[in-house]
Amino acid sequence: MPEPIASTERPRAPVPTDPIVGIDLGTTNSLVAYCFDSGPRVLGGGSGGAIVPSVVRFHPDGIVTVGDAPRRARAAFASETVASAKRLMGRSARETAEFARGFSVPVVEGPRGIAAFAIAGRTVTPHEVAAEVLRELRTVAEADLGTQVRRAVITVPAYFDDAQRQATRDAARLAGLEAVRIVNEPTAAALAYGIGQTRRAERIAVYDLGGGTFDVTVLDIVPGEDAGTGADCFQVLATAGDTALGGDDVDRAVARRWIEADPALAAADHDRAALVEAAERAKVALSDGASVRVEAGVSAGVRTLALTRAELDAVCAPLVARTLEACARALRDAQTTVAEIDRVVLVGGSTRLACVREAVARFFGKEPYAALDPDRVVALGASVQAAIVAGGRRDLLLLDVIPLSLGIETVGGAVAKLVMRNSPMPARAHERFSTSKDGQTSVRIHVLQGERELAEHCRSLGTFDLRGIPPMPAGIPQIEVAFAIDQNGVLSVTAVERRSACEASIQVVPSYGLTQEEVDRIERESLENARADMTLHRVIDLRVHSELDLKWIGEALARVRTALDPSYVADLERAMSDVRERCDAAARDPRSVEPDAFNAAKQALDRLSMKVHETAIADTLRR
Ligand code: AMP
Repeated sequence: MPEPIASTERPRAPVPTDPIVGIDLGTTNSLVAYCFDSGPRVLGGGSGGAIVPSVVRFHPDGIVTVGDAPRRARAAFASETVASAKRLMGRSARETAEFARGFSVPVVEGPRGIAAFAIAGRTVTPHEVAAEVLRELRTVAEADLGTQVRRAVITVPAYFDDAQRQATRDAARLAGLEAVRIVNEPTAAALAYGIGQTRRAERIAVYDLGGGTFDVTVLDIVPGEDAGTGADCFQVLATAGDTALGGDDVDRAVARRWIEADPALAAADHDRAALVEAAERAKVALSDGASVRVEAGVSAGVRTLALTRAELDAVCAPLVARTLEACARALRDAQTTVAEIDRVVLVGGSTRLACVREAVARFFGKEPYAALDPDRVVALGASVQAAIVAGGRRDLLLLDVIPLSLGIETVGGAVAKLVMRNSPMPARAHERFSTSKDGQTSVRIHVLQGERELAEHCRSLGTFDLRGIPPMPAGIPQIEVAFAIDQNGVLSVTAVERRSACEASIQVVPSYGLTQEEVDRIERESLENARADMTLHRVIDLRVHSELDLKWIGEALARVRTALDPSYVADLERAMSDVRERCDAAARDPRSVEPDAFNAAKQALDRLSMKVHETAIADTLRR
């Protein structure tokens, strides 16, 4: 049997000799990505690529280390370690005096009055620090691509002025990289979604909430004769934000709440740090779930602390409100209105907070784009821009058809396909499903891509749970699952239970990470296995339907057994046990069951069971 396609599989495509990479040079973390023929991916170790902390340690012996190691050792070597150097890039010492206190190394006046760091008797400029980060990213890229990397597209915040952009170029040069383009971060985020490659005029808002900063940018895509230059057709209309607002504030507020409830938790200063760290863990764990418990080691011992979604939402509410005020300000500055915003894109780790997504959706009156990892979306977009600069791959993410069928897993591991391959984009489809157990109050929706009949042979795109279904007998809830794929290939899947109106949804980008060869292989395998797959699908469906039939018949029989002829009951029970044995065999190994014989047994039971159902209905009417 062929191997199932794992979603983490890495495309291995030929890389040109002088590739251009995309770099997100972040305040806290930095990433490098490359756009393969199959689409962009972040380079380096780990399944999602390497995230390099923008932390640099200048050892007294002249050695420089970058990333995770200096970040972890930061407290011990505070006077040698620089983090968040980006905040000072291209700024004068005078301008930055107010937030110089936030650095663990002294900020002094460097050459030409610019802000610089005093480390071990020497002066290091912020762009020299950035150069070390870029050098590290270059090493990551070269190891992954297996070739020398000398050119990059580098992103900067939309509000960076000329001096800050020039400092970024200088940093690249020091790292042996030519910055072929400096691109605004929100523009890159939009490009990662394929926005801006269709030459349509559009107005976009990019909402970026990270660990320590928030900014929102309103951009226009301006199509025109010279739009062939790619990102040049993005025009920033306004930006607004707050350089001291982010996920860290949420962590601190949660910790404060715990301390208010039990002041003994923070007996010593370092207890607060342990509680803030536990608060972050609790916050992240609440991405899926209604409540969570975490442990924190404080002076008084190890304490278990609880946090519910409702409490987290309450803590976030004033912070989220401040971000929305900034959104309103940006719209005003751009002389536009919510109604004129065509798309909203989410960037930054804190946009994973459900309350943030919901508030943004409510404010803008539309679902924001959130399918791509908000920590990686800027780097991915930078690499898309790099591919455009490198040689006209403007069609990169612009698929006009859906390359592989899309569907969901149903009970027993079969696949219900909702959108067939080669359907033109945009596309919509919906289908009705139900529950398989009495009183079932939640269902798991597993979104799949592929041509095979069984979920295990398809590519998993994501799962989500629809909760809050009122308890009803199996098969009674009406769960409508809707697929919508927009012209950029972003798939939104929504599940609604009609009677209770409970709803849940997910967004994914199905084409990411698949090469043309993989698409071809999936199609080939589906043809090779078509007959066996169909047989299996049939057995699984027969089992699912038969189990429900057996349940209904069993219940009816229990009620009216005494009113029925004993020989009929004996025949019925024999037919039931025949079907039950086949169901059990199918549950153990669906391949061992012959579907025609199973179907014949099920039909025989269907015919025989009419009498018991009629008797049960008559009995109900009499009562
Ligand atoms: P960034 O600066 O974009 O890397 O974002 C980092 C922030 O995102 C930190 O405050 C994290 O605690 C936060 N974050 C990361 N994952 C999650 C999550 N699943 N839910 C809520 N916040 C998260």
